[in-house]
Amino acid sequence: MQTTTAECPYCGQIRTVMIPDDLDPQEELYCAQLEAIASCNCTQGAAARNKNKILSIAEDHIEDVLRAAHPDAADLFQEAKEAVYDGRIRKLSVREGSGGKAELKRTKDGISVSFEKTNKKELST
Ligand SMILES: [Zn+2]
Repeated sequence: MQTTTAECPYCGQIRTVMIPDDLDPQEELYCAQLEAIASCNCTQGAAARNKNKILSIAEDHIEDVLRAAHPDAADLFQEAKEAVYDGRIRKLSVREGSGGKAELKRTKDGISVSFEKTNKKELST
């Protein structure tokens, strides 16, 4: 890890952040900015911090519910989760060849990931 500084894009505060060593310069900037947003306590950044948190939980849920047995749906859902959070996609539903149905949808507080064959498995943020 290395120490660098980055500006919170919402309030302009300069934050000192830790980022991994093995990044190219563009990734370093991106990573440092995400860390700055995550560590800043401004009200302007609260929505962005909440979004990042929900997306990170949704990412884990997609992996937990789908990755092992349904990798194609897992890939699609990982691609779509931000659009679902933002409401550009309200619900994404995948009917697999085997008959199972996977669903990714926006809920009041976050994103829910479910897979249904005979027993429904669902995780919500
Ligand atoms: Zn800030």
